[in-house]
Amino acid sequence: MKITAIKPILADGGHRIFVFVKVETDQPGLYGWGEASVEGKPRAVAGCIQDMEPMILGEDPTRVEYCWQILYRSGFWRMGVIGLSAISGIDQALWDIKGKEAGKPIYELLGGRARDKVRVYTHFGGSSPDAMARDAMSKVEKGWTAVKTVPVPITRYLDGPKVLKQAETNLRAVREAVGDDIDILLDLHGRLTPQMAIQYGKRFEPYQPLFLEEPCQAENPSAMAPIARALTTPIATGERLFTRWGFREVLETKAASLLQPDCCHAGGISEVRKIATMAEVYYAGVAPHNPYGPVSTAACVQVDLVCPNFVIQEMIDPDSAPEAQSLVKDPLPVVNGHILPPSKPGLGIEVDEAACARRAPDFSINRAGSLARRNYGATFEDGGIADS
Ligand SMILES: [Mg+2]
Repeated sequence: MKITAIKPILADGGHRIFVFVKVETDQPGLYGWGEASVEGKPRAVAGCIQDMEPMILGEDPTRVEYCWQILYRSGFWRMGVIGLSAISGIDQALWDIKGKEAGKPIYELLGGRARDKVRVYTHFGGSSPDAMARDAMSKVEKGWTAVKTVPVPITRYLDGPKVLKQAETNLRAVREAVGDDIDILLDLHGRLTPQMAIQYGKRFEPYQPLFLEEPCQAENPSAMAPIARALTTPIATGERLFTRWGFREVLETKAASLLQPDCCHAGGISEVRKIATMAEVYYAGVAPHNPYGPVSTAACVQVDLVCPNFVIQEMIDPDSAPEAQSLVKDPLPVVNGHILPPSKPGLGIEVDEAACARRAPDFSINRAGSLARRNYGATFEDGGIADS
């Protein structure tokens, strides 16, 4: 079998522009799907996928690791989010082909299921304690057993009691509403300095969040490590890190005890599995990052099923993202806060190319609501640029 084409397909998923990847073969009807969505840079990723196509054209798509190595090592340069996202999407599609050819789900080719179902969580928000509590409860009432929010405002390098007290008030309201049977997950979104992250973290501890995510930016793990040492709440990070090499220092410095590699960025199914195994050595768990589309969710589930140290999987609530759901033919259902192992060969999901064509992104500028103008950053009160 030979790879005959690698095509990026862009589609407006409502909350994001998705980059799907289709790898075609010389076997009639046998092709694979992947996802390489990156906020704000879909055309760059699509261009990178096109640049990478000739590197493995004509190769056997079932040699997934061999093709990964060609893409990773060719061309001298190591890569960042654009290159690794392109590789990630292609890797998923190669695994999809390998599974379809074998007539088995990918998890069967990765050693078989290590569990019977995958626990998933989604997001809630709100601009007041009552609104946050209501939104969290609306998820719980639909069966979600774990919900995540960003509990902190844009915060200055050093900030005072007002923001700290408000954040604590919000979290207390949510905990009182959902009770102790529901896990509350907190994403600090890399907004804080380590010194402010510790102050927020101490305020949050009485309400026992499952983890604190990205308490500061992840580009310097040794700066995150003191936060982990100062708090009892486990620290999570990794959505903005790539490959085994990107996660090494996080583990060695014990900056986090929960890793969040992304199947669309970290290097695909192949690499997330390896990162999870590295984490096992340090008794760290994995909770793959995934605010993207249904293909990304399907790829994550395949890995989640085989990793002994899997904790929980992020996903967009399908009920709040009908546009995204409409781009695939058979999205995986969420049942009582869990996804059951899909039985179809490969990823177990098919992109609807006609639906994608109908939702081709609008990149025009100077037009209200244009997706191209989303994802602008945040500012401090003095006009300086903040991490959002
Ligand atoms: Mg996050």
